[in-house]
Amino acid sequence: MSRLPHRLGPSVVPARVPAPLAAPLLAPLLAPLLTLALAAGLLVGAVPGTASATTTGTRAARPLDGVTVVIDPGHQLGNHNFPDEINRLVNAGGFKKACNTTGTATNGGWPEATFTWQLAVRVRKQLRRLGAVVRLTRHSNSEDEWGPCINTRGRAGAKYDADLMISLHGDGTTVKGARGFHVIRPTYRKKWTADIFKPSRRLARVLRHTLVHQGFRKANYVAGGTGIDARGDLGTLNLSDVPTVMLEAGNMRNKRDARLMHRAKGQKRYTVALVRAVRQFTD
Ligand SMILES: [Zn+2]
Repeated sequence: MSRLPHRLGPSVVPARVPAPLAAPLLAPLLAPLLTLALAAGLLVGAVPGTASATTTGTRAARPLDGVTVVIDPGHQLGNHNFPDEINRLVNAGGFKKACNTTGTATNGGWPEATFTWQLAVRVRKQLRRLGAVVRLTRHSNSEDEWGPCINTRGRAGAKYDADLMISLHGDGTTVKGARGFHVIRPTYRKKWTADIFKPSRRLARVLRHTLVHQGFRKANYVAGGTGIDARGDLGTLNLSDVPTVMLEAGNMRNKRDARLMHRAKGQKRYTVALVRAVRQFTD
């Protein structure tokens, strides 16, 4: 985590510093006493501000302790019921764009919103199990709700002081035979993405790797087959101040991709890939 610039603030570091590493911060006079205390195993929980990291040893440290992840489960299910709200123009990073869109669906009518919601809930569960704090940008999958707008999504990472954000989507192209996933990362845009361009590119590469490792195919219809597209026209990416990528998990209009995305077995594989990407990125 410490390689991420925004995590270097003093408010964040103490919770991640184990008691032995805090010793050099104290006056040299105390050093011999500390050494003795450490040797005797007495220091655990004794230094103010380190208690949460070391506590009383009742549970082992988990791999994602201290990591905060924002999962953006894409379009809200009810967006199509709120055209005025959804079409309202908002700042998308130096230009205006519609607040949101309705998203796509499988040929059978199963909505992208439901796919991304189900996947987000699965990923949240696994990340929490590993110790991460997980925030979602929407809290329901409801026909009676809409949004949030792309500008709100884009700012979610900063709002929660997150280490990274992943936005979940399914694509909907009718190009014949088009299938496979692609990860979208922000392009370099001086006033907007200069702060997150490089770590987002790394996050994209890590996620592509873990998806391929889980047997997913890189999209054959976009980004030259590389599995990673770079875009400067997406508010969610442009407005983010933490490393952010968008995953187009598959083409919902393609039968085989749709099956992968719909079935529990496929969703579990996406979940494994996403969780591994978070672990590798924050390691
Ligand atoms: Zn989408």
